[in-house]
Amino acid sequence: MYVKEYDENNIFAKILRGEIPCDKIYEDESVLAFRDISPKYQTHVLVIPRGRYVSFDDFAENAGSRGIGMFFHRVGMIAQKLGLAEGGYRVVTNIGENGGQEVPHFHMHILGGEKLRGL
Ligand code: AMP
Repeated sequence: MYVKEYDENNIFAKILRGEIPCDKIYEDESVLAFRDISPKYQTHVLVIPRGRYVSFDDFAENAGSRGIGMFFHRVGMIAQKLGLAEGGYRVVTNIGENGGQEVPHFHMHILGGEKLRGL
């Protein structure tokens, strides 16, 4: 597992606490979704759990099947709400240093609204 202690002062923790504003798309008791401040595509939304998980690796190991199921259900629901389901879209998460993860609070990127470049 990608081992790292959760940093309470990471930027997404501050957004969850309401200390920093975000362009909110959706929220409920388990997740928050907001537009990426530096969008790479026409639609670029981040979905984060309210729980304190450093990365996907941490989330997959510790969130439990109910929490994981809930999160992925919300990601799909938000993509539909954004109107992406018909044309297609991509969900991606970066993990740790080699994965290029900048913010150490687990998040999924929802990318779409135009033809995406290949991986
Ligand atoms: P990652 O590299 O997977 O950790 O992605 C972090 C993402 O967070 C990047 O795409 C940033 O543009 C985005 N980001 C950083 N700060 C903010 C912020 N205050 N509000 C919205 N998105 C942010």
